[in-house]
Amino acid sequence: MCYAIPGNVKSITGNLITVDYFGEERKARNDFYDLRVGDYVYAQGGFVVEKIDEKLAEEILDSWKEMFFELKKTDVRLSKLHNDKPNVEKSFLRIIDRAIYGKSISHEEALRLLLSENPDEIDVLHKSANFIRQKFLDNSCCVHGIIEFSNMCDCQCAYCGINSDNSALKRFSLNTGEILKVVEDAVNRFGFKGIVLQSGESPSYSSENILDLIKKIRENYPVFIFLSVGEREEEFYRKAFDAGAKAVLFRFETSDSDLYSKLHPHSSLNERTGYLELFKEIGYIIASGSLIGLPGQNAESVINDFMFAKNLGCDMYSFGPFIPHPNSPLSRHSAPDAEYVLKALSVLRLIDPYGKILVTTALESINPKTRQQALMGGANSIMLNLTPKDYVGSYDIYPNRAAVDVSVADQIADALQLLKSIGRAPTDLGI
Ligand code: SAM
Repeated sequence: MCYAIPGNVKSITGNLITVDYFGEERKARNDFYDLRVGDYVYAQGGFVVEKIDEKLAEEILDSWKEMFFELKKTDVRLSKLHNDKPNVEKSFLRIIDRAIYGKSISHEEALRLLLSENPDEIDVLHKSANFIRQKFLDNSCCVHGIIEFSNMCDCQCAYCGINSDNSALKRFSLNTGEILKVVEDAVNRFGFKGIVLQSGESPSYSSENILDLIKKIRENYPVFIFLSVGEREEEFYRKAFDAGAKAVLFRFETSDSDLYSKLHPHSSLNERTGYLELFKEIGYIIASGSLIGLPGQNAESVINDFMFAKNLGCDMYSFGPFIPHPNSPLSRHSAPDAEYVLKALSVLRLIDPYGKILVTTALESINPKTRQQALMGGANSIMLNLTPKDYVGSYDIYPNRAAVDVSVADQIADALQLLKSIGRAPTDLGI
């Protein structure tokens, strides 16, 4: 979970390998193992995370084979194009057609889609986004687990419930042993192949501690590590990559620099995006995005954010609704409608047919049905919460977060049932 399917190494060029999955070939980067053609590996996010024994791989592949093709058939059936709705303007369909044929759509065209209030057009938009997801990315759906290991934070992000001014919040930090225990369960008991380590930003959880944690995780568990620990020193990010973290989840929050400065008195958009450029240069897989529905933002800014993220070369997009927190400066504002966010995610799929699109927990927190709706409207990635029950309530970035009272086993069962019903494989075959 991602229940990566073992792949068979077909060719090796330097640290880039080609892996075969039931006849489909994908590429993956190998930084960790001594590999030969014919070996079996698990890959995640475009990186090899584990080399596995041939006999075991063949047994797992045997158990997967029927399901692998069955799921694909269901997905193809459910993602057929239905552009025959009566009340759709020709100009709207022309934009959709461009995206279906893999042509880029302009800012104005994307805005036209996002501004539509016509139910027939919106239906065509969602179905086309799903068709494009199937056509360009097939039926893989990443299922990563997130561990929120500390809510200590020195930042004053105006939307965030763990901002340093929220003195009502009980602060916590898990120690290395506690985090390793969560990782142990995630990998060995629940089968996760990708985990996100997330925290606020505070020197109380030092960069050295995080580096030590990454090393211990990589020494003991074959898992793909995403870091989501905010703005830290360049040297830390370089060392963390070498220690085995290969991806970052780091939103730019908004691409409007004035709005950014208003919301983040401690930082600037330039500083924030400078990090994303650094991550790219180091070689990290990048997941980024912004908040949808921030006060001061309009549809045009949302499209600006999408275009900005595409230009950054994100591998995965994380765009989710702003949800007001009662102990934050934005407490009097409202969250956007779930339908608006779903429409925006479908537009994003038309802007970038290839990037992974995450269904954020924030969207699911507005309405749990949105997980399925977003997956049927262009998204192809979900995250389950692994934070221990004693702490998850204190990672209070916004109120009423989805799944905080659901056990990991039940979250997995729900996710697998949904994915199976819509023909998605809980796997990340890579690039
Ligand atoms: N410190 C890290 C960083 O800055 O990237 C990660 C932790 S931060 C709490 C994780 C994400 O939570 C942010 O990128 C932000 O977009 C999101 N977030 C914070 N407050 C939110 C709110 N009120 N509604 C929705 N998302 C929120």
